[in-house]
Amino acid sequence: MNINTDFFDKTATPLIERSVNSVRSGFAEAIGDTPLIRLGSLSEETGCEILAKGEFLNPGGSVKDRAALWMVKRAEIEGALKAGGTIVEGTAGNTGIGLAHVCNARGYKCLIYMPNNQSKEKIELLRSLGAEVILVPPAPYKDDMNYQKQAGRHAARLKNAVWVNQFDNLANARAHYESTGPEIWAQTKSEVDAFVSAAGTGGTIAGTGRYLKERNSDIKIMLVDCMGSGLYSWVKTGEPVMSQGPSITEGIGNSRVTDNLAVAAIDDAFQVPDIDMVRMVQRMLREEGWLFGTSTGVNLCGAVLAAQSLGPGHTIVTVLCDAGSRYQSSLWNPDWLAEKGLA
Ligand code: PMP
Repeated sequence: MNINTDFFDKTATPLIERSVNSVRSGFAEAIGDTPLIRLGSLSEETGCEILAKGEFLNPGGSVKDRAALWMVKRAEIEGALKAGGTIVEGTAGNTGIGLAHVCNARGYKCLIYMPNNQSKEKIELLRSLGAEVILVPPAPYKDDMNYQKQAGRHAARLKNAVWVNQFDNLANARAHYESTGPEIWAQTKSEVDAFVSAAGTGGTIAGTGRYLKERNSDIKIMLVDCMGSGLYSWVKTGEPVMSQGPSITEGIGNSRVTDNLAVAAIDDAFQVPDIDMVRMVQRMLREEGWLFGTSTGVNLCGAVLAAQSLGPGHTIVTVLCDAGSRYQSSLWNPDWLAEKGLA
């Protein structure tokens, strides 16, 4: 197989080719093809069609299942990972959960470094999935004790092990370029004016955004950032200057321009304070019956801001990254929220 390591090489064989019949073969094929869901209350309020990819319906429960599968597949194709090998990664949780599932399905071991301030639901789930979880104090990327850097060093000490390096591994963006983007294009019947997404690694916004822009360069790609992150400033000024934080959101925001973000084509950016995100997810439960996670709340606030900036009559697509069940002890715990001043 001709492996595509160049994000822009459209002639290369896709990393993953899917069967076209309706039976999905096993865990890997159950990833993707998520529904595009219309959010009625937000659509009516803004006069735009607010549509969102139901990524929490992936078999591992989040948008990161796609990246996990594509990155493992790339390591296999490149020969970096052999039977019985170990996948090592630093992750805020969802990538690790996706990787742990894929490792079980394909006979690999999974070792995860994680900052110790992430939700206990994600940590417990990773352990249930058989992953070895090493919790470390949060440290900025420039610090040697950063969870990603520790994961990289650990992988280098093991035989037949691969450090996934999701932040700078372009198979991450490639997953969305080959799956999320084409799905949105087909599901909207090419009627899409804007794609709005928060970014952690940047894989989702880079891959999906690039695909959509190649189909129609008028489609606006908009980044929505949490507080305490440098990505809003990066889009607006070219420099990732951290905004005032912290934020209770998980999996999004960054202090640096990752390799995945570096290949993104982004037109504009918005910032969303935690209190707006909390009000949004509570409203979605009350008005529409959904229990969403923190980054989904940020994305939906971003979709409304995009609708306000574009005006009525547009179709705006965003991402429902994961479900609120991953945040029952935090976002969905009134006492915890009150402690954070977000009740
Ligand atoms: N939401 C959640 C809950 C996540 O775990 C992540 C991944 N860190 C994202 C959003 C952001 O996705 P990406 O890494 O593709 O930018």
